[in-house]
Amino acid sequence: MHAKEVIGIDVGGTKISVGRVSKNKKVVERLQFLTESKKGGAQIIKKIIDAVAKLQTPAVAAIGVGIAGIVDYKKGLFIGGPNLPKNLKNTPIASLVKKRFHLPTTVDNDVHCFTLAEAKLGSAKRFSHVVGLTFGTGVGGGIVLNGQLYRGRNNAAGEFGHTTVAKEGDVRCGCGKKGHFEAYASGTAMTAFYFSLSGKSLAPSQIEERAAHADRKAKRVLAVTTDAIAMGLANIIYALNPEVIVVGGGLANLKSLWGPVRTKTRERILSPLLRNTPIVHASLGADAGILGAALLTEKK
Ligand SMILES: [Zn+2]
Repeated sequence: MHAKEVIGIDVGGTKISVGRVSKNKKVVERLQFLTESKKGGAQIIKKIIDAVAKLQTPAVAAIGVGIAGIVDYKKGLFIGGPNLPKNLKNTPIASLVKKRFHLPTTVDNDVHCFTLAEAKLGSAKRFSHVVGLTFGTGVGGGIVLNGQLYRGRNNAAGEFGHTTVAKEGDVRCGCGKKGHFEAYASGTAMTAFYFSLSGKSLAPSQIEERAAHADRKAKRVLAVTTDAIAMGLANIIYALNPEVIVVGGGLANLKSLWGPVRTKTRERILSPLLRNTPIVHASLGADAGILGAALLTEKK
């Protein structure tokens, strides 16, 4: 009898990572390639299947897939997402993979996978009630309660990016609605805000660097982003009373952001029971997606 291994697949808008995960939850072999969304959905499925075939061994007992977008978890169906091709919409990923490899296959949203991985193996592994947030192009979220992913009615729990933090008339979100958290607290939002002040289009890390060199417009962008993130975090803390919030994504790397975010979040919270909720950085790096996808396959 072979030791049980699992293949975890992380499908993002820019790249796809496929890894074989050992019984003791280490990525023992991996492949990575570009998503190339412009080339459509069929080549993505083909590349995933080819990668799994390369990594498969007789020890592999299940396959897990995390994908950037909305997933019908029960059916293993990718419903759609803004960073993946339109013709990948409504693809029954679980049954396509299962048909080829005859192994149980589970599919979920990529940030659900990130949160599960950090809650089980990463910086939140001592805790059983965990909120995970990724601040990048958009804002993604996941909730782990009692050590298990909380999915809600339609597997859409944790969509904090589209909770409302400002009144109508303010900035429009990528989804088309106004006043959403993501429209103020994402990398896209920082770039757009700095552009509106200066006419220059810069990445968040460049804006941070300019702020450090006394660029007043860049400082303003950082201050507004800090406030917005704190507002969102305080709302989440009041709603869920998590033991810890784990943050990842590109903005998590902005060193000057998170000290002020923690202070501003505390300032928004009155209850002494909630005020000191730890806000920590993710610790698994790029492996979180593969590991979280692999963890999806574990029997409850
Ligand atoms: Zn939105």
